Amino acid sequence: MILCECGEFIDGNTFKDYIETSINPSTPTVGHVKCGLIFDFIDGEMPKRYSSRTELKSLALKFAEKNRLDDEITGKFLLEVDRLKSKGTMSDIEILMAASDAFVERQTFEYRRDNNRMR
Ligand SMILES: [Zn+2]
Repeated sequence: MILCECGEFIDGNTFKDYIETSINPSTPTVGHVKCGLIFDFIDGEMPKRYSSRTELKSLALKFAEKNRLDDEITGKFLLEVDRLKSKGTMSDIEILMAASDAFVERQTFEYRRDNNRMR
């Protein structure tokens, strides 16, 4: 999942395009349909956006919804996002990815365990 600079997850909502990069004058890439931003995965860096705490929180909530985190895990996830944000050095995407590492996987695991228990 890629978080676009416009603050939305591109989530399959992309168009194909070709850009000039250092490896190929016509490198296939994707752009975000909604805002038109074209990603450069070769030379460009991942979008770096530094939102305010409030903006980041609403992003994190969106992220939690997209990943179908339950309420309890969403709460912990938001705390972790806040903790990482207060370090003040990480961009939005770095924070969301780092925080989700801990929680998204755990939720998947617990979901599987619950499923097994029901059988
Ligand atoms: Zn966008």
